[in-house]
Amino acid sequence: MIKKIAILTSGGDAPGMNSAIRAIVKKAEVHGIETFLVKEGYSGLYKGDFVLSSKIDLDENFANGGTIIGSTRFPQFKKLKIRKIAKSKLDEKEIDALVVIGGDGSYKGAQLLHELGVKTIALPGTIDNDISSTDFTIGYDTALNTIVHAIEKIRDTMKSHRRVAIVEVMGRGCGDLALFSGIATGSELIVTKENPKTIDDIAKVIKEQMIKKGKRSTIITVSENIFDDLYALRKEVEKKSGIITREISLSHIQRGGKPTAGERIMTTLMGIKSVDLLYKGKSGIALGMLNGKVVSTPIPESLNIKRKSRKNLTEKINKINQI
Ligand code: ADP
Repeated sequence: MIKKIAILTSGGDAPGMNSAIRAIVKKAEVHGIETFLVKEGYSGLYKGDFVLSSKIDLDENFANGGTIIGSTRFPQFKKLKIRKIAKSKLDEKEIDALVVIGGDGSYKGAQLLHELGVKTIALPGTIDNDISSTDFTIGYDTALNTIVHAIEKIRDTMKSHRRVAIVEVMGRGCGDLALFSGIATGSELIVTKENPKTIDDIAKVIKEQMIKKGKRSTIITVSENIFDDLYALRKEVEKKSGIITREISLSHIQRGGKPTAGERIMTTLMGIKSVDLLYKGKSGIALGMLNGKVVSTPIPESLNIKRKSRKNLTEKINKINQI
């Protein structure tokens, strides 16, 4: 029988992490399980940096962005020796189980802990929507809305001055933030890893939109890590198209902000489920939302599911937005 659960957030912070923590703590209380919060991800686990959840007002913080327990990148966790020390810190406090909220890197850590005998459940915490066993990751919906609002503001000023904006958005290797924000803002061109475009392609679209069609603004939405130098890209595009262009990287504002209502609901349901599964003795499980329902997938399977291709959809959208 589980008596103590630890919770950690790992990898990039994401809005909704706090509401997930709150739900786990509350559901654990129902079962009479004590909860500990691990500071700064796997690094805190290794150091044994735990606080009792009762020390933090989770109700006051559950709708705030970021993660109140902190997160750090801790590559040393890939070493077995380090993970064994982390496990010993849990053992010292007689903590039976761990809920990890993070992206696919964090999932790997959770799986390896499971293999060492720690009961683990993983929740998909990343704004990138790059975990294929769930329709949505925690933080994605909030980030998407943040991007849409930002692009709308950028469009206002571009329109006023007859300009083009190349807007770079996050997503690591996943194009969902670029594609779906591009759909929601009517971006004239969406560029993702799956749908790469050359500088000539971009300049051609700009000329068609701004010169041939006489539009007052054009938005090119680009996923991060496609072009090494956004400034150089803008200069080149400007030279080839003859239209004044601005490059804007939305950067870390995409990570912050209060989680959307959908995010708060989803994390509450997943938080409850994680405790139910641990209570039943389950481990090595990743949770997600598919068709509005919480689903469980073994972590290795979750990491191996091939990402759905968005290539055709992106092409379809690019076509209609250029008409
Ligand atoms: P995310 O979880 O958002 O994908 P990272 O890839 O940075 O972010 O992973 C977060 C943390 O998870 C890392 O800093 C490290 O502590 C741990 N981690 C990542 N990959 C592994 C791995 N292969 N084995 C063990 N731990 C890992």
